[in-house]
Amino acid sequence: MTHVISDECIVCGACEPECPVEAISEGESKYEIDADKCTDCGACVEVCPTEAISPE
Ligand code: SF4
Repeated sequence: MTHVISDECIVCGACEPECPVEAISEGESKYEIDADKCTDCGACVEVCPTEAISPE
């Protein structure tokens, strides 16, 4: 299980620097979380202004 970013993402980039394992990167139309890197820590959830990040 990992955290995922939904279509609510407005590509603001707030979450990217929060991830301790650099699992977040900008995708084609929104930011994306690399499931192979994500440790499910939840550090990115709080900073998202649109609440687009949640546990899968
Ligand atoms: Fe990174 Fe933690 Fe968010 Fe996973 S839950 S993407 S490890 S900040």
